[in-house]
Amino acid sequence: MEEDFLLLNPGPVPVTDEVAAAMDEPMVSHRSAAFEAVYERAQDGLDYIFEESTLEGVSTATTGGGTTLLLNGTATMGMEAAVANLVGDGGHVVSLVNGKFGRRFARIAERYADVTRVEVPWGESIPLEDVRAVVTDETDVVTMVHNETSTGLLNPVEGVGEIAEEYDARFVVDGVTSIGGDVFKIDDWNVDIAVTDAQKALAAPPGISAMYVTEEVKDDLDGEAAPFYEDLEWHLRKSESHQTPFTSAVPLFRAMAVAVEDIVEETMPTRIARHRRQSAAFRAGFTAMGLDLFADATGATELSNTLTAVSLPEEVYGDDADAFFDGVDARNVSISGGQAHLGGAIFRVSNMGGLPDEAILRGVRTVGEAMAD
Ligand code: PLP
Repeated sequence: MEEDFLLLNPGPVPVTDEVAAAMDEPMVSHRSAAFEAVYERAQDGLDYIFEESTLEGVSTATTGGGTTLLLNGTATMGMEAAVANLVGDGGHVVSLVNGKFGRRFARIAERYADVTRVEVPWGESIPLEDVRAVVTDETDVVTMVHNETSTGLLNPVEGVGEIAEEYDARFVVDGVTSIGGDVFKIDDWNVDIAVTDAQKALAAPPGISAMYVTEEVKDDLDGEAAPFYEDLEWHLRKSESHQTPFTSAVPLFRAMAVAVEDIVEETMPTRIARHRRQSAAFRAGFTAMGLDLFADATGATELSNTLTAVSLPEEVYGDDADAFFDGVDARNVSISGGQAHLGGAIFRVSNMGGLPDEAILRGVRTVGEAMAD
């Protein structure tokens, strides 16, 4: 008998039946009290996630006082909104690039400002000295990705945040595949704006980006320099009455409210510990079957706790790993290949969201079976 479909891509990730059902409720106006209540529930849950994402369960992540915003549109839009509201009229941005999403941040910033990239081959760690060498007193913004989904690496947000702070640059961090599944300390790491996505570790459907805008950065925002739809000053004003400036994606906001309430119930320390355990299980399973993690090839040591990137043995697959991916698909499991030039070289599996341990075991088993085909 065929097993149920199992989604192990690094986003979108599976949602619970309750989250899915929330999207089916009768429509309401985005200007109604009923909608404001939904927005507030989502905002409260996200506040908890942004402010308490530690393993210790104490609030060292932020001292609070920032504002959580929900925007129609995926994280790429949130990333652009953050940059455009800070340097929409130009300025100097330093962007760290060691994977696809770091590169995306740089490309977004290049639309608005002069960008100095600190770039190393995808999958390698970025030395802090390289960052220090290019950030100056003239730098307005530093962008980086915390958890690089394209390579399965964790990047050193804390160290870069210290450098940004030293030069009084605003620090914008993509926490898209870490927030909701791993430690993220906005205050301790000097983050000014943190961006995340609904469909990753928050386990909500795609279509909303959530961001945390700290109190200190609010004065630096220039909404009029940003695209009309992404004016964060306007979003901040409307969020005071739990609304968005334009029509909210009502079903998605409802689903988000339920998804984040599940996280509050699980608690962040428990959720982070579970993600760490499950990603360790993925790594142990794949290496036990003789595979190498992609990081083994690059020498990186700080690995993601929410997704795992594994090298496909070149002697087996050469340039063509289609047979492997077909074998995984045939077992009703969905995983991801490498992106851009890493296509055919690696596969990636996610443990983001609320997966049971059996899903991790099935992921390992399926990869092993597909390789033995
Ligand atoms: N940043 C990271 C780290 C990601 O993993 C992704 C998506 O995979 C994005 C940004 C962009 O997200 P979206 O395609 O939802 O805009």
